[in-house]
Amino acid sequence: MDYVVAVRALCEFTAKAGDLDVRFTPSPSAQEGVAGHTLVASRRPDHYESEITLTGAYEHLRVRGRADGYDPVTNQLEEVKTFRGHLDRMPANHRALHWAQAKVYGWLLCQDRGLASIDVALVYFDIGTQEETVLVETHSAEDLKAFFELQCERFIGWSEQEVMHREARDAACGALAFPHGDFRPGQRQLAEAVYRSASQGCAVMAQAPTGIGKTVGTLFPLLKACPSQGIDKVFFLTAKTSGRSMALDALDLIARSDDAPPLRVLELVARKKACEHPDKACHGEACPLAKGFYDRVADARADAVSIARLDRESLRDIALQHEVCPYYLSQDLARWADVIIGDYNYYYDSNAMLFGLTLANQWKVSVLVDEAHNLVDRGRKMYSAELSQAGLKDIRLYAPPTLKKPLEKLNRIWNEVNREQTETYTAYDAVPAKWLIALQQAVTAVGEELTERPAGVDEALQQFYFDALRFQRIADSFGAHSLFDITLIEPVSAQPKAPTSVMNLRNVVPASFLAPRFAAARSTALFSATLSPHHFYQETLGLPKATPWIDVASPFVAEQLSVQVVGNISTRYQHRDRSLDPIVTLMARQYHERPGNYLAFFSSFDYLQKVLALFQSRHPDIEVWSQSRGMDEAAQTGFLARFAPDSRGIGFAVLGGSFSEGVDLPGSRLIGAFIATLGLPQINDVNQQMRARVDALGKSGYDTIYLYPGLQKVVQAAGRVIRTQTDTGVVYLIDDRFARAEVRDLLPAWWQVRTQDHSPKEKTWT
Ligand code: SF4
Repeated sequence: MDYVVAVRALCEFTAKAGDLDVRFTPSPSAQEGVAGHTLVASRRPDHYESEITLTGAYEHLRVRGRADGYDPVTNQLEEVKTFRGHLDRMPANHRALHWAQAKVYGWLLCQDRGLASIDVALVYFDIGTQEETVLVETHSAEDLKAFFELQCERFIGWSEQEVMHREARDAACGALAFPHGDFRPGQRQLAEAVYRSASQGCAVMAQAPTGIGKTVGTLFPLLKACPSQGIDKVFFLTAKTSGRSMALDALDLIARSDDAPPLRVLELVARKKACEHPDKACHGEACPLAKGFYDRVADARADAVSIARLDRESLRDIALQHEVCPYYLSQDLARWADVIIGDYNYYYDSNAMLFGLTLANQWKVSVLVDEAHNLVDRGRKMYSAELSQAGLKDIRLYAPPTLKKPLEKLNRIWNEVNREQTETYTAYDAVPAKWLIALQQAVTAVGEELTERPAGVDEALQQFYFDALRFQRIADSFGAHSLFDITLIEPVSAQPKAPTSVMNLRNVVPASFLAPRFAAARSTALFSATLSPHHFYQETLGLPKATPWIDVASPFVAEQLSVQVVGNISTRYQHRDRSLDPIVTLMARQYHERPGNYLAFFSSFDYLQKVLALFQSRHPDIEVWSQSRGMDEAAQTGFLARFAPDSRGIGFAVLGGSFSEGVDLPGSRLIGAFIATLGLPQINDVNQQMRARVDALGKSGYDTIYLYPGLQKVVQAAGRVIRTQTDTGVVYLIDDRFARAEVRDLLPAWWQVRTQDHSPKEKTWT
């Protein structure tokens, strides 16, 4: 079996040495990189060849890649690298890696064209100034061939082991039996849809209820499909840590099967959680785990791949044994793992590592998106940015003299923009051009200052730099999918001072950003208990129009859950005070009819407090407990612990908070829920502008910004009640709007909803 390796991956494996050093970062975004390469090519003569596909072989290795450019007249091959900051600050090992790539391409081109020698050039393109620095070396084909073979020789032992691993993995995956023996109801339908999407090379959306075993039901079919579809890697992406644990547990279960495949499972953890020296910077002069990182990472990697489950703890153990940084070790291991579990942002964010590696290595990947309804909000956040003038004012106070001028200028233009705004909040069609230029100048100056500093880093300055860079990048791709607004902040001091402001770029429809990420995957399965209406998710996320959608039948039956719409109460803001009495009466009546554990959800803490106060005064005999603002993990655990199998009482919570999703309280731990809100987001300037943006795109802004997100929260919260096929319970949907047809259409098909008038005096059934 041949082993295919990309030129870049080969050189990263063989030619990286010395310290880890991320001071020469943030590197340009993929978009800036492409724009830089295009600009360089456009400056070359007509006969210049760009993006030349080249391949070469050494024993069973097939090396492939695309050289950036070649001028046949001058016989010069060019490897283009985009960067920001001072080129002379680039660490020597980065430069060595670039030369290695250029020389490998040099040999591949000599071989392809029968050249006896060639000029190999590194073209460094400065993103800020758009200037090029060109370094040239002349090499004979013979020398380049020797260099190429040396790299291959260093890699070949590793590749032989990889080939053996892949063969064993694929053979075992093909023969893998479902770990539970039988599928649960609905689980087979889900598994078959995921398998089909991998076979057909497309995406699938699956609305699948809780309790059918979605995690193992989606991982298993993809592992089965690995050999026949040539899948290199499976990414299991989650919005929450709990989703990562469930995926690790499912893979443990598969690992305990007879003839389990020798899978390498890697859990990716955020840098701030994996870092061993949070007080230090990521380079050899500051952090001992960065010093000599590339000299020791090969041994750490070799040890790590022999361990099946590389979760946070085991990865940390290996990293510390070899004295390398656990976070950056996990990034290296992403290249060699079979199943990678991590947050959505590792694949969907603008600079996502897994997406970048997939493109660079031409991997065939299958992606599983757990609790996919969260990707709408998370996707929006990934492509939004905020910049506060207050942050700029802070750094101006302590900025070094070299930064005074550009920061003052930015502040002055910012004040001018503020003066032109008459309302506290205003949305605009574009970011002010003059302000953007001043921001660009400030960013360049701060970037230079940061790269000049040998060790210490001013955290506030660095944070401003990262925020400003992000803002610039998002501003570059500003369009009809996003909103730009400015909010003026009045000064707190009594002295007459000008207001400051906050600039926001808010993505409303992330489709255009996420679509290329779906396209780069062999298949993507997005699954959740709430993915209705499917056209909303398909359009907002940028999935192809023809993406199949399946609604997996619930294992639960209507008799298990009594769903009652309380149509004579309005929870609208202006009717809240009037709603308190009937809500309290309803809750107490239900509790006395069937004592047990209940959850009650409200739209805000304020509303919650009012109902709670009245309930306690009227029914001091009924045990109650309440969610509070900013509850820490221990307090949240305490809240949930009160839902014991033999306890009784009502937990008060806010819809959309920690207790309305991802909470599992089976059996008598929870027998009912009162939901006194439609969950509609607050009507405010921002939401109204977002609604207008969606309307302008020809879709319903009200549905997209208010109705769908609201009902999605309601259904998630109600989903806490029935967790197993033996559970029974009740859900009260308290608001007259729940009786409307467009709202009822968004409720799960298996619910049998009854509308009941729960007014104390009369009882009307419809
Ligand atoms: S341990 Fe922390 S400071 Fe050191 S290299 Fe890793 S992430 Fe950076």
